[in-house]
Amino acid sequence: MNKSKRLYLSPPQMSEEGYELQYIQEAFASNWIAPLGPQVDAFEKEFGEYIGVPYTLALSSGTAALHLALLVLGVETGDEVVCSSFTFAASANAITYVGAKPIFVDSDEETWNLSPYWLEVLLKEKAKKNQLPKAIVAVDILGQSCHYNPILKLCEEYQIPLIEDAAEALGAEYYGKKCGQFGVISAFSFNGNKIITTSGGGMLASNNKEYIDKARFLSTQARDPAPHYQHSTIGYNYRLSNILAAIGRGQLKVLPKRILRRREIFRTYQKGFENVPGITWMPEPKEFYSTNWLTCALIDPKVFGATREDIRLKLEEHNIESRPLWKPMHLQPVFQNCEYYGENVSEKLFELGICLPSGGAMTKEQQDFIIQEVISLSKNKL
Ligand SMILES: *Cc1c(COP(=O)(O)O)cnc(C)c1O
Repeated sequence: MNKSKRLYLSPPQMSEEGYELQYIQEAFASNWIAPLGPQVDAFEKEFGEYIGVPYTLALSSGTAALHLALLVLGVETGDEVVCSSFTFAASANAITYVGAKPIFVDSDEETWNLSPYWLEVLLKEKAKKNQLPKAIVAVDILGQSCHYNPILKLCEEYQIPLIEDAAEALGAEYYGKKCGQFGVISAFSFNGNKIITTSGGGMLASNNKEYIDKARFLSTQARDPAPHYQHSTIGYNYRLSNILAAIGRGQLKVLPKRILRRREIFRTYQKGFENVPGITWMPEPKEFYSTNWLTCALIDPKVFGATREDIRLKLEEHNIESRPLWKPMHLQPVFQNCEYYGENVSEKLFELGICLPSGGAMTKEQQDFIIQEVISLSKNKL
């Protein structure tokens, strides 16, 4: 193994065919360098067709997409918004941007995503006090969909709109439907470590044209229709540039291949650790289709013989990046005053969980080396 070159957890991977550069060249040739342009329009259209949602809006980040989703739904100062606790901070941060307060909900063991059980407990309690939350942000974590049937039933019963944070789950499915189809509005990210990247970028998607029109207006400085610059609302500068959209179009072409490859990497790890006790894998329930964006495992230190941190440090010795699973939001200092509904499922995921290198360009030799190094820490090594 070449120690001088760091092996990253999930680095960008441009297409072997060079599609991204072709589209960038088109953008240069047409001189559409400045924001927006034909690449953005085409990227939105192709992305919408892929996930099966008609209205889409390309943005500068997934965080911007979440912020606009909350604005479009009219969430404002003093409101409460439910959010998965087991997520990356951006899901919850966006809630605070509009002056609202997150209430965190635990994961379930079956999906590692928003627990329908605790969501129901929360909504029942809040309904009694006549203090229902204004929206729910359900996060499709680590390449896997939430269990949407019971969640959507609760949204319907209590008449609360669902925002789907599908930033980590582009291409994942639930009962044959792609993530992004479940929220009244959904957010995606093309940040550098996601399954496809534009170096930085995001997308909003909705079946509701009004939501996307309103988000488009807000994302381009909220300019009223007039020959001069006239504003009656506060706007934002959140659009994706035409050059970055060109990268996105090229990446979208190889997305199906990338998903198959990430699933293959996951299975290779599973097979490699088949006879090693103390390791369990992120579950993929029946009727779910995960992209395995990151290969995630739980390490039981008593059975395995080492902690997830021992594993991380061991790999780090070889300049290989791995990472603990997300630290739940209800344990974050910045959200310490927020309410939490749940037990300790997300806490346990954080305590025991590790993400192993999952980049599609990783070689078989590199993956075998990682497996070998991890097994060397096991007290039951073969
Ligand atoms: C990456 C990510 C985001 C934010 O996306 P950016 O494009 O980095 O702003 C939001 N939510 C989740 C769950 C993410 O993983």
